[in-house]
Amino acid sequence: MNISGSIKDTRNQVKEWKSQGLSVALVPTMGYLHDGHKSLMERARKENDKVVVSIFVNPMQFGPQEDYDSYPRDLERDGAICQEAGVDWIFHPEVEEMYGPHFCGYVDMHTLPEKLCGASRPVHFRGVQTVVSKLFHIIPAQRAYFGQKDAQQLAIIRRMVMDLDFDIEIIGCPIVREADGLAKSSRNTYLSREERAQAVILNQSLEEAMRLVEAGEKEAEKVKEAIIKKLSGCPLARIDYVEIVSFDNIQPIQRLEGPVLIAIAVYIGTTRLIDNRIIM
Ligand code: AMP
Repeated sequence: MNISGSIKDTRNQVKEWKSQGLSVALVPTMGYLHDGHKSLMERARKENDKVVVSIFVNPMQFGPQEDYDSYPRDLERDGAICQEAGVDWIFHPEVEEMYGPHFCGYVDMHTLPEKLCGASRPVHFRGVQTVVSKLFHIIPAQRAYFGQKDAQQLAIIRRMVMDLDFDIEIIGCPIVREADGLAKSSRNTYLSREERAQAVILNQSLEEAMRLVEAGEKEAEKVKEAIIKKLSGCPLARIDYVEIVSFDNIQPIQRLEGPVLIAIAVYIGTTRLIDNRIIM
């Protein structure tokens, strides 16, 4: 396994693999890897000849008051996890390698990024789309693997690939959780013991929602109310949003029909966590 910070070397290596007829997968990450990331790598490993993981804490997708500086980083540990998952190449660029001094080539989109996380994190998805576009150009893989944990991101990337004709297949992978149901996240390390214990409320509130849905509830408002009621019972939880939207275009819906995304963002103490259910 190689680790490279160079766009040129990474691109040349991927080109060489492709010229040999090998299939290449990309797994974009911000590092501080956990079993959620590992599940993406393992799936990529099964379905492709070569696997590239990018590890880049992308400053462009963080707002000025957000946790860019304190975001956890541990390249040595990440390297060991990648090695174990059979990754062939880690692309780990410096910020200067990705964004030159006069950088202004943003990739942006209407509608899909406006709601949910985009409403509380206004520059976030522009940063995500820009960096993912760059990664797709640097690493012209046949397939890229994303987690459904970031469901809005997945919908946006799928739409971007469709609208801008990127020649890459986007594979969405299920959410990996801790034993008590909390979705694995690099940000879980911010939680104190007490906060960690209470953070299970996100998944529990979504389970409550799914019980209603499975019992035949079709009114989005009723499902939303049940989630809010459950979250409100948790002393350390502060709701950022609870939304039920169409998974295709991330617009609010009144009735649960077609592909539906139930998405929540909740502060536990000062840590903002997200979780969701997708109903196809
Ligand atoms: P991040 O490093 O948080 O930017 O995540 C990199 C990729 O891993 C994204 O596609 C995430 O959706 C995915 N991911 C993060 N957490 C999980 C999880 N618990 N289960 C599955 N995928 C995840």
